[in-house]
Amino acid sequence: MKAAVVRGFADKLVIEDRPLPQPADHQVRVRMEASGLCHTDVHAARGDWPVKPSPPFVPGHEGIGIVEAAGSGVEHVRVGDRVAIAWLGEACGHCDYCLTGWETLCPAQQNSGYSVDGSHTEYALAHGDYVVPVPEGLDPLDAAPLTCAGVTTYKAVKLSGARPGTRVLISGIGGLGHLALQYARIFGAETIAVDITDDKLALARELGADHVIDARTEDVAARVQQLGGAHAAVSLAVSNASFRSAYAALRRGGTLVLVALPADGKLDLPVFETVLGGITVLGSIVGTRQDLAEVFRLHQLGRTRVIREERRLEDINTAIDDLLAGTVTARLVFDLR
Ligand code: NAD
Ligand code: ZN
Ligand code: ZN
Repeated sequence: MKAAVVRGFADKLVIEDRPLPQPADHQVRVRMEASGLCHTDVHAARGDWPVKPSPPFVPGHEGIGIVEAAGSGVEHVRVGDRVAIAWLGEACGHCDYCLTGWETLCPAQQNSGYSVDGSHTEYALAHGDYVVPVPEGLDPLDAAPLTCAGVTTYKAVKLSGARPGTRVLISGIGGLGHLALQYARIFGAETIAVDITDDKLALARELGADHVIDARTEDVAARVQQLGGAHAAVSLAVSNASFRSAYAALRRGGTLVLVALPADGKLDLPVFETVLGGITVLGSIVGTRQDLAEVFRLHQLGRTRVIREERRLEDINTAIDDLLAGTVTARLVFDLR
């Protein structure tokens, strides 16, 4: 089988021939159909973050495919089922986080495409309890971006408190942001979309953003304060400057939800303004298996649109270059069929 492999943080990815992996008792082998390219894969391949993966490894955590073989201990899914392989590769299932609906904070978790091999491959192994069934009728090429970009922003927008009567700023209308904007609308908020490319600003308008701001030419915080300030801002742009302007766009009592993870990501928090303004700053990491099931259901009901472009796995290095150049249509998805 073919797999895209990170051999070193300074190197291009390599397409390798590897033997077909054999599932352990608790695992399934998934014949991949689609795998989305998340900006996190680029951070992983470059070793951008304080906790680094160990090359060689296979990135990818927006994987959709068919269970082809299952270990003797797998009961949750069967051979032939379509499943999703998400960032939460497995968790312990026993700690207080796992027991209280916060499995995404489990200290013993493994992460697909980071601490264990992920989905940019023709066949992947995954934990039978942590793959998420994909409902009938969902196109695998749509289901892939929902598996990280979808679930992450669904959770982040829920935590933002978006509801009718609130104004929510979505900073960065890329893979994550184009879905965040749709969830904020589903939750009933007035939406403000911010980006720095013409294509993404046009996409935001097409997806129904109430206000669209070009951060290259406009003062984001000033524009939003003219509207009365944002009740919440969700930071999805890979840029420290965008965190500062999202913070400054908040109204008193507002919430900043941090999601993007640039290398050396920093926000210098002014304590006085935060205290007197009653500001909340919170971090949000992906979502649970249940969040992903809800994301799939919303898509099945026709409430969301996945904007995407197909690529071949062989072209992964070009795909990464295009993602970094900001020239891609929201999400690139490798078609592995
Ligand atoms: P992306 O590259 O598809 O999207 C980023 C968008 O931000 C692009 O549209 C870009 O034009 C825009 N942008 C860049 N600079 C900007 C600025 N100054 N102001 C406004 N917009 C700007 O990336 P993505 O796949 O959506 O991922 C975004 C980030 O989220 C990455 O750092 C990724 O690692 C992180 N992420 C976090 C989680 C989590 O659970 N916390 C999950 C997935 C991804
Ligand atoms: Zn991701
Ligand atoms: Zn746990």
